[in-house]
Amino acid sequence: MRDDNCIFCKIAAGEIPSRVLHEDEQFRVILDLAPVTRGHALILPKNHYANLYELPEDVAADVMKLAKKMAGTMTEKLGCTGFNLLQNNGEIAGQTVKHFHLHLIPRYDEDGQSITMKPTSPSAAELDEVKEIITRA
Ligand code: AMP
Ligand code: ZN
Repeated sequence: MRDDNCIFCKIAAGEIPSRVLHEDEQFRVILDLAPVTRGHALILPKNHYANLYELPEDVAADVMKLAKKMAGTMTEKLGCTGFNLLQNNGEIAGQTVKHFHLHLIPRYDEDGQSITMKPTSPSAAELDEVKEIITRA
């Protein structure tokens, strides 16, 4: 399962060079070329899935297991003081490469990054409504 026009398919297959932190049958973990912090890396499945919606459940479970392992190793080796996992789906969400990837972002005191959310203040009725929509059978 690959897309011949996809750069991450080529990187995951080793056809385009990358700095590989880990490789197994299913995944390649590479350093991001434009890191937001020191050690910023990406978990790439070797098969092409455009996004989370296309990712099979078993692969999703294995991605999270690998993320946990990589976060532990990277924290120990880099001495980071925090860690973000980030995964974008769709242009509005910031996805620029249409091959599923999970960002591994080591965080450091005063690293100057702000991977933040802007909280809003919906009414109780609005919260009830959205809960009802999502959980409706
Ligand atoms: P996203 O915006 O979530 O789609 O993330 C795409 C990420 O891929 C960005 O952080 C880019 O810096 C990174 N990226 C794009 N091309 C390459 C490449 N050839 N090697 C390593 N990282 C890349
Ligand atoms: Zn691909």
